[in-house]
Amino acid sequence: MASTMAKFNHKTRTGRRAYQHAWYLKNKEKQNAKTKAWHEANKEKHNNQNKKWALENPERRKYISDTYYARNVKRIRERTRRSNKILKFEVLSHYSPKEKLRCSWRGCKITDMDMLSLDHIKNNGAEARRGMKAIGGVVYYSRLRKLGYPEGLQTLCHNHQWKKEITRRYLTGAQ
Ligand SMILES: [Zn+2]
Repeated sequence: MASTMAKFNHKTRTGRRAYQHAWYLKNKEKQNAKTKAWHEANKEKHNNQNKKWALENPERRKYISDTYYARNVKRIRERTRRSNKILKFEVLSHYSPKEKLRCSWRGCKITDMDMLSLDHIKNNGAEARRGMKAIGGVVYYSRLRKLGYPEGLQTLCHNHQWKKEITRRYLTGAQ
């Protein structure tokens, strides 16, 4: 009793949905352009409608975003981790010798990103960070990139951060 309007069968991909999908694949470009044009033309109205609906249905809204997050938590975390890694790589590279990721200490060959971080050349790190109202690493890195990489920073490996600190204490007579 096969009908052309049969229920979609996920295994065999037959039935109405399969027909619709085949139609979509055939007319993809035209259809996507149409959808895009509609969105461009109705952007504001559409956004306002969405906002209004979200305000009127807070619980439903929360349910949707919660379940979306729950369903995609692994993917979202992975994506965030990857983009954070890229951000860190870009910023640390910028403050490396010749903008190639490496510790700026003379003769040091450390290029492992996990062992590198930013150093304020004039030891005013805490002050500079307060001035930018940013605390943590990622926020700080993204702020620096947005500001077009202000001067006064360098990439150092953790050993040389420590070496610099010991030298500073020795020179200033601090304990
Ligand atoms: Zn080093």
